[in-house]
Amino acid sequence: LAQLYGPLNMLGYLYRTINQSLVDTERLLKLLNEPRDINDKPNAPDLIIQDGSLEFENVSFSYDKRTTALDGVSFKVPKGSSVALVGESGAGKSTILRLLYRFYDLQEGEGRILIDGQDIRDVTQASLRKAIGVVPQDPVLFNASIGYNIGYGKFGATQEEIVAAAKAAQIHDRILSFPDGYDTKVGERGIRLSGGEKQRVAIARTLLKDPPILLLDEATSALDTSTEKDIQKALQNLVQGRSSLSIAHRLSTIATADVILVLKDGRIVEQGTHAELLALGGVFAAMWADQVSSNDDVSAHRKSAVVS
Ligand code: ATP
Repeated sequence: LAQLYGPLNMLGYLYRTINQSLVDTERLLKLLNEPRDINDKPNAPDLIIQDGSLEFENVSFSYDKRTTALDGVSFKVPKGSSVALVGESGAGKSTILRLLYRFYDLQEGEGRILIDGQDIRDVTQASLRKAIGVVPQDPVLFNASIGYNIGYGKFGATQEEIVAAAKAAQIHDRILSFPDGYDTKVGERGIRLSGGEKQRVAIARTLLKDPPILLLDEATSALDTSTEKDIQKALQNLVQGRSSLSIAHRLSTIATADVILVLKDGRIVEQGTHAELLALGGVFAAMWADQVSSNDDVSAHRKSAVVS
């Protein structure tokens, strides 16, 4: 029995790891909504990345064939640029990310999604997902060391690479403050990290993966000012030189995006830079005014909390 214990333990570990990584994938972008089975076409080639530019070409989509989630959406994300998706709940932001990650395939007549000119339905899912890094809203960590959790982004990552990624993701100093540094266990059976810390771990992981395309789902929860600054810096390091599509909630992200797409009922109702959209005085300008005033409320509240 003792002889069996080692292998069984290992199997258990593998099972948990695989299970966890499934959970990890499922949790990406709130994707837990029973995606259809997606199959690669016979002899599908791998995606060939030239510069990582994306295009949605007249994309319409319905989850249930009755209600419309996306309705004739067209936009481009040129090489290395950042596009922010904004819009009220149910506007179609997550659906855009889910379709790009191919959790659903578009059917005949529903438009096309292209990466460097290749229809994503025609290439292997493995090569597609290799090219895309995802930073979800609430990243799931393995019950393993924090070093493992970061190194998971790249097979065979060295300790130096892990530390460099943690530094760029603004989480290195925090890790050094843990009792066992990079060997400290995190997750449910280890140290509990805050939402902002987990997101920086996911950013470090993605930096190691080094994908040309990024999908970011920003956390909606309010962050304190220094965490916000750290995350902003980490994201800047990550986004640099990559094409990114972000579901944007933070004023900082919205203001610095190359292009903002404003979605409403599955359609793009406005698009442009922050300044252009403010000048337009439409849906975005109203959303912005709303956020700025509620942000003022938060900082006013913080100030009064400090004073009292
Ligand atoms: P939120 O900000 O709340 O995440 P969102 O802009 O990301 O919203 P989506 O999740 O893309 O919105 O949803 C777009 C539309 O598709 C909504 O009407 C939503 O109810 C519908 N929808 C989303 N997921 C499913 C699903 N699995 N089955 C049926 N309808 C869905």
